[in-house]
Amino acid sequence: MGIDSVKAIDRRGETELQRRAAAKTRSRGACPALAAPMATGDGLLVRLRPAGGALTLPQFTTLARAAAAHGNGILEITARGNLQIRGLQAETVAQLASDIDAAGITVPDGPAIEISPLHGIDPEEVSDPTAMELSLRGKLQDLLASPRLAPKLSIVVDGRGAFGLSALTADIRLVASSQTQWLVAINGDSETATPIVVGPAEAAVSAVGEVLSLLAKLGQGSRARDIDPALLRARFPAISEPRPLPSGVVKRPLAGLHRLADGKTVLGVRPEFGQMRAADLIALLDLAAAHGAAEIRLAPGRGFFLLGLAAEAAPAVQTAAAQCGFSAQAGENAEHIAACAGAGACGSAFYETRALARRILAAAPALFDGSLTLHLSGCAKGCAHARPALTLTGTAEGYDLILSGLAADRPDERIAGGRIDFAIERLARSIEDNRGAGESAAACLTRLGTTGVSKALRQD
Ligand code: SF4
Repeated sequence: MGIDSVKAIDRRGETELQRRAAAKTRSRGACPALAAPMATGDGLLVRLRPAGGALTLPQFTTLARAAAAHGNGILEITARGNLQIRGLQAETVAQLASDIDAAGITVPDGPAIEISPLHGIDPEEVSDPTAMELSLRGKLQDLLASPRLAPKLSIVVDGRGAFGLSALTADIRLVASSQTQWLVAINGDSETATPIVVGPAEAAVSAVGEVLSLLAKLGQGSRARDIDPALLRARFPAISEPRPLPSGVVKRPLAGLHRLADGKTVLGVRPEFGQMRAADLIALLDLAAAHGAAEIRLAPGRGFFLLGLAAEAAPAVQTAAAQCGFSAQAGENAEHIAACAGAGACGSAFYETRALARRILAAAPALFDGSLTLHLSGCAKGCAHARPALTLTGTAEGYDLILSGLAADRPDERIAGGRIDFAIERLARSIEDNRGAGESAAACLTRLGTTGVSKALRQD
């Protein structure tokens, strides 16, 4: 299949390739995620979230083998902690579905319900989100199956603990405020969402049902932000202004060894910029299994946790993970880069995001003091990062530099294709030269502003 055929999207936004793949998959009644593969620059892409974001090691290994056999062997973990398999063809999607079924991997139907990655095993978790997810799926089954809900509708259930979900935006978020009480908020992350109800689990489920009904009435494509505020106030008299919601214990980086409150060790690993080759993943999983790991949990931040490692073996697995191309140490600069699939993987991309990311890591360490995220986006769609960041968006002419914004925002500077390495080096040097004592890279960039940055980039 050529890129041209993938790009040949008809007026309804669906290619012939997608229709054929979807029809084959539906007829087998397999994993619902496989009913809607997306056309990209390297073939079809399937995104799936296994139940609870959890897989046994043999299941994850099966998925990796299937990705190599039926796709191009590239797997990704998204910023929300979902799994993507790339490079599939219309005729191989059904084979992947069959392998997923045979491995006993369950992918729940309906909108994704994302729950805290260490659910059920983190002693600091305030309440177990799996019970809440089960209640939602059991009591709101018909509403959740409504075709009038937006395909991208997101529901987050945050049990809090060591790794909560406070940074994930969601249409509907449920946060454990105590073992028996849940707070329901809509449209945002833990800083920006609007609280509508606090109460026991039944009240929280009922509130979610009300919000889903409102969304279903509004029609397909509607999101929580589209609900009339007056209607919301009438339905939820306890609604309040957005305020910081309860969140996890501390904000920890995903990568590295983590000792939970009960002494158990989990190892967080991140594939380089969220993308990994099946062979590397299989090598890591084999080694981890040999050291006692039994399960993985997908996690927001483009990575996963290995569970069950013997504490004394964990450092060896950590070292081996690095040899297999994974970040397994906290504080690596790559943590602060969000790069999309880029050219070679996505037909819309204007540049190779990962190659540029590696060059920037080597040439401009001054950018990575932890104060800012660098977002490398192959085009203005901005798949890799939905929050304001220092952004380089690929265009037909080169790169748009946005100092603090989204990929589609108006650029602060335009950089010609051949000058990108020079421009990045100038930007980093300008921060080094102008930063005041104790000033972060982000604060320095804000102070320099468009004028200061433009001046720095134009110097020869
Ligand atoms: S941001 Fe653009 S180039 Fe990058 S993966 Fe999304 S659509 Fe492709």
